[in-house]
Amino acid sequence: MKPRTPTRVLLLLMLLSLCYSVEDIRFIVEEARAAGLKVAAHCLTERGARNAAEGGVASIEHGLRMSDETLAVAKRNGVVLVGTDFPEKTAGYLGAGPEVARVFHTLFLDRLKRAYKVGVTMAYGTDAFFMVPGETRGALALQYLIHMPPLRSFGLFRTSRL
Ligand SMILES: [Zn+2]
Repeated sequence: MKPRTPTRVLLLLMLLSLCYSVEDIRFIVEEARAAGLKVAAHCLTERGARNAAEGGVASIEHGLRMSDETLAVAKRNGVVLVGTDFPEKTAGYLGAGPEVARVFHTLFLDRLKRAYKVGVTMAYGTDAFFMVPGETRGALALQYLIHMPPLRSFGLFRTSRL
């Protein structure tokens, strides 16, 4: 697969940064509920995640920039944080240099640890749009789970297999 260029990554991040209002999200959630469905929101900004958590979505994918306050709203509203974190070496496949990869890595670990501390229910998601030769997505995910306390890591891993 052709690696992503920085321009493509930037464009993707800009598209993912667009967000709906709380009222719009509540409307979407109600419409989905009427159809027997749940809503998953892909959020890369604090505002987008906050609006999604307040709007009643079932899960927030990515949630990279979630503040402690937004994590608390997610916990209170029963929103599952589906982190799609990836290791530094994987960032290179997105066209990121070592410095940018380090920034992503730092943001992922910080949010992961804060979410754990707040007590948000978490799951690992494979919303990856690239492949790493010689690696599986599960193997890459395990590189992040080693940063969690042992019992919690086991719970996350077991839950993600259901
Ligand atoms: Zn996504």
